[in-house]
This record gives sequence, structure tokens and C-alpha cells, in this order.
Amino acid sequence: MVKVDIKYTKLFINNEWVDSVSKKTFPTINPQDESVITHVAEGDKADIDIAVAAAKKAFHRYSEWRTLDASQRGRLLLKIADLIERDYKYISELETLDNGKPVKQAEGEILWSATIFRYYAGKADKILGSTIPADGEVLTLTLKEPVGVCGAILPWNYPIPMIVWKIAPALAAGCTLVIKPAEQTPLTALYVGALIKEAGVPAGVVNIVPGYGPTAGGALTHHPDVDKIAFTGSTEVGRIIMNAAAAVNLKRITLELGGKSALVVFNDADVDKAADIAHRAAFANAGQCCVAATRTYVQSGIYDKFVAKAAEIAKKRSVGNPYDEGTQQGPQIDNDMFTKVMNYIKAGKAEGAKCIAGGDRQGKVGYFVQPTVFADVKDDMKIAREEIFGPVQSILKFETFEEVVDRANDSNYGLGAGVITNDVTTALSFIRHVRAGSVWVNTYEHVTTQTPFGGFKESGIGRELGEEGITQYLEHKTVSFNLPKKPLV
Ligand code: NAD
Repeated sequence: MVKVDIKYTKLFINNEWVDSVSKKTFPTINPQDESVITHVAEGDKADIDIAVAAAKKAFHRYSEWRTLDASQRGRLLLKIADLIERDYKYISELETLDNGKPVKQAEGEILWSATIFRYYAGKADKILGSTIPADGEVLTLTLKEPVGVCGAILPWNYPIPMIVWKIAPALAAGCTLVIKPAEQTPLTALYVGALIKEAGVPAGVVNIVPGYGPTAGGALTHHPDVDKIAFTGSTEVGRIIMNAAAAVNLKRITLELGGKSALVVFNDADVDKAADIAHRAAFANAGQCCVAATRTYVQSGIYDKFVAKAAEIAKKRSVGNPYDEGTQQGPQIDNDMFTKVMNYIKAGKAEGAKCIAGGDRQGKVGYFVQPTVFADVKDDMKIAREEIFGPVQSILKFETFEEVVDRANDSNYGLGAGVITNDVTTALSFIRHVRAGSVWVNTYEHVTTQTPFGGFKESGIGRELGEEGITQYLEHKTVSFNLPKKPLV
């Protein structure tokens, strides 16, 4: 087991490391061996109140942060990016310890996060309004201003990208933040706090309060001085957050929620390549991915060949120690998720789907699940309808284009979708008719910094990344000048 030095376990408020008011702590667990890694200060309402007050003070109109030039905000973001790159090996090892994902994958995510800081650094001094020519007597212009104090509530599946998708555009826009990381993965979020302080971001601009959802998260969503909540997690909690935001002060919200994405493979596809894309689409991050393509629709002409290939690839997937370079899949995040995934596998078997790979836990210690493939899945089975968030691929047969579009769209979710075909008309027609926020053609889960990411339907509200990502942290102000109708003397 790799030894990782843990440097920060307290709350990060006002650029200081502090105990929680209650002095309570909670354990964070290593999903690889179920041991307690360390205990972290447990924030609740009292700590959120202090953190929000700090963020509000930092947002005051004459504060150091509000009077900083926009280009200087950009420089701070560039500095944070440099510090992330300086420490990416350490951060990756810490991420793997807390989350269980393969360390090579963590490295990729952390280096990508530095580029996201750089992208938004470039935007900080390009937040432009517009000038509307005089309409008779009135000249109008628009200003874009920071939303204010933002709350960010994070999931555990991609801890560093999820915190960076929120901090980078929020800081570029000039907002201040109170962040509640997922209780399963608080450690790298706290380390980001240390880098933000080292970069020179003024006190109170970014505050990080680990704790549980209903207590710390609930206090943030119910706080009257919080202007906006950015949330990534389950649709169920997204609904709670939207209700709380509406009830208290009509907070702005962005919600990145669940999915049950469909990847559709047509008869003209190369079966080996298609099975490989579909495998990675379903099993990336141990299936703990909001856009995971867990419904693989395969046209009848290549169905049998595809099913055989999908099983072959899944059986070869290397599951185990996430610090080993060759490991493709680590453990599920915690006992709850492990149990949930195992129950879906049981449901698939009980409902008559054909389990052609995996289907069991792996080993006796740690939350490892075998890469599992079900064939002959029917649309009404639980494994085809509900988000599993584990390494389980469901393969379903289809005959015609119109049939598969209807079936792909027959979901409350609408996050991602994929199509594999060499026929451009088929691909373009699929893109036009599928109801999802991202559509991939002959690839899957290609998420880029410059493009918006988010969902249709119950997969969310608003978008992160790209130009749209910063827009979610800006208010628009329209200003009208009354011009004189007579000559000036
Ligand atoms: P969750 O939605 O319960 O938790 C996400 C975050 O919300 C955590 O920080 C949690 O503490 C917080 N939270 C929970 N209850 C809250 C409340 N009442 N008020 C405010 N904040 C609250 O997700 P989870 O328990 O980590 O996982 C459960 C399911 O969520 C998974 O099965 C999966 O379907 C989904 N999920 C989706 C994503 C995604 O990227 N879309 C990420 C993680 C989990």
C-alpha cells in the first residue's frame, strides 16, 4: 500500500484551518481495504454560518477581492493552475487513497483541472457587456456582474474536476464561495484550499467545509446570504436543493444530476471497435460516472457478435489495487454504493437478463465489483431504467432507427448519448432526435473544457464548462441613459 502523507483535515475558512464549532469529526474510509484513513472536522450549520459570513465579507464592494483588477483575478487562477501542476503527483495519490480510482486516471483528471483554471483565467478580463445604440432618447448598455456568494455541493466520483468546474468560473467571474465536498472524499478538496491560499487569493474568497449532506449541505442551501448553489450529485438531492433554494431566497441554481445514457450501435459499425467504445463508455471510473452509457442498444444484424465481444472485453478488465499502473478499475466508493450495485446485479438476474460476464463481488475485502455485462435486457427491467452507478453494462437489441430513438429517449434522464455508425445521415438524424445534453459520434465521453456540459430533463439545469460555465456565475445589469433632446450649451 502506498503511504500518503495527509496534510489537511480541518475546515478551511477565511484562509485559516479551524476545528468545527462542535469539535466533531467524521472518518473518511479507504474503499480499497475499508480502513479508516483519517478523521476530518465535521462542519454543520454553525460552521456554514461562519463560512458564509466570511464569503459575504470578502464580497463586500470595497473588499480586496472586489477591488482587484479583473486581469489580476486571471493571474491568480494561472497561479493556482501552476501549483496544481507542481503537486499533481501528490494530489493524485491522495485522490486514489480517498476515492479508490486508478492513480493514472487521477493524474489525468488533475492535470486536466489545471487547464480548466487556465481557460477561465483567460476569461476573467473578457467579461464584456454590450452597448445598444441610442433608441430615440435613450442609450442603453449592459454590464455583467458576479452573482455573489456561491455555495458548491460536490459529489465523490470526480472530486477534483467537480470542485474545479465550479471554483474556476466562479473566481473568474468575481464571486466568493463556500464549498461542501462529498463526505466520502474530503481530502483533495482541502488540499485545493491550501493551494488557493498559497496562490494569494484573499481570505474568505474560497471556504471549504466538509460535512454531511442534510446538515452542512442543508445549511448552505437554506442560507439567506447565499446567492447561488452549484450542485453535482443525484437527481433526488438535486430536487431537495431546488426546493430549498426556491423556498428561502430564490437562489440561482445549476444542477448536474444523474443519467441513464444510451449508446446505439448500428449494423454498419466495426463490431470490435464498437464493443471497445461501448465498454469504456459503460465502465469508466468503475461505472461511477453520470454520463456512463449503461444502456447499449445494438442492431440485430451484429447483435450476437457484439455480445460475445462485450463479454470478452469485460472479462479481461483488470480490477484491483488502484496504485498498480495496469489497473483499469478500482473499488466502488463505499459500502452503500457497493451494496446498491450488488442489489442491481441481483435484480438483473432475477428479472431474466442474461449475465454474460462478472455478476459478483471481487475478493473479500474492499468494495470491488466484477465488471458485469447483461445481454437480452428489456426496456422495463430495473437495470435498464435506473441509474446503477457501478460497473454494469446492459445490452439491448433493436431493429430500426425510429424504434431505437424512441427507446433511447424513453427515460426521465437526458445527460449523454452516443451513436456508432459510418453513415452520416444516420448519425445526423440521431443527433437531431436524441434528447441529451451531449451526443458523441463514434466515440464517447469526450468532455472538453471549451464546451458546455449538462443535461436535458431530470439530468439537470444549466451548464458547466465553456462560455456557458462562467455565464452561470454572472448577473446581467441593464443601464439606460436618458440623452438630452436639446443642444447642449
Ligand atoms: P448525493 O446526491 O446524495 O450527494 C451529493 C452531494 O450532495 C454530497 O456532497 C452530499 O453530502 C450532498 N447532499 C446530500 N443530501 C443533501 C441535502 N439534503 N442537502 C444538501 N446537500 C446534500 O449523491 P451520493 O449519495 O454521493 O450518491 C447517490 C447517487 O447520486 C448515486 O447513486 C448516483 O446516482 C448519483 N450521483 C451522481 C453524480 C453525478 O455526477 N451526476 C455524482 C455522484 C452521485
